[in-house]
Amino acid sequence: MSRIATGKPRMAPWSCFRAEVGPLLVEFGLSGSKVTPEDPFWHLRESGLWEVHGVQSDSTPTVQAGAFDEVQPVAGLTHAAAELLQNPLTRLEAVARLCSTYLRGVDQRALLSRVGLAGYATADGLLDDGEEGPTQEVADEGRATGPTARRDATSSRLIRDAAVAKRVKELHGHACQVCGTRLQYKHRPYSEAAHIRGLGSPHDGPDELQNLLCLCPNHHVLFDGLEIYIDVEGIVRRTHGGDALGQLRRHVGHQVDETYLRYHRTLCGLNGLTTE
Ligand SMILES: [Zn+2]
Repeated sequence: MSRIATGKPRMAPWSCFRAEVGPLLVEFGLSGSKVTPEDPFWHLRESGLWEVHGVQSDSTPTVQAGAFDEVQPVAGLTHAAAELLQNPLTRLEAVARLCSTYLRGVDQRALLSRVGLAGYATADGLLDDGEEGPTQEVADEGRATGPTARRDATSSRLIRDAAVAKRVKELHGHACQVCGTRLQYKHRPYSEAAHIRGLGSPHDGPDELQNLLCLCPNHHVLFDGLEIYIDVEGIVRRTHGGDALGQLRRHVGHQVDETYLRYHRTLCGLNGLTTE
């Protein structure tokens, strides 16, 4: 799934699989387990989601690294499985399901980080310049300080659409959609546009009105940090404990896409697991 999320080919040669999965089994596998990389490489086929090429299946009743070293087969998710996992919501749900089903006893955050999926730890994901924590919308409010440099990021995907951010704030009159706070900053109202499915990797959310909320800085931090989410009824809840903070404030001119809220909820569910 990491290969899919990072745009690598779905199939990997045995040498690559062994070099990458071997250390993961040692570090995150069950203690005392005798599982070696050739086991998942070969037996994942039984899931119907995985295929191996370059080995005669009936001629290999028992799998041995030596035999694989000789013929160098390739393996990976089937074309159909890889296609499904191109959908970010499906991919996130699959990661969350794997974590909750098979990886309850391991340091999931460390494991996700090791396989290049550290971005699943926050709603905004990993940005190209390595910036962490809540991101700021600075341009249209004329804030005197702030990390303006990242507006010059070379990756155009990460350059935010200032117009769409401005639009969501104006529609809500700069009132936070969670608490209704309308901050005054240097004689002007101040609010932040929060992406629901983050722009950073591996979320790759779109920069569009349906994927934005108008929030105060406090609720932006809590939303990006996966401490609060919006449930199916539109009620804002705490990830830990589920306490209700109130109904999300809506505006008729601002339709929020439910699939983005579901994505964010699933991410909160995954991180609720990783921190338990
Ligand atoms: Zn607020």
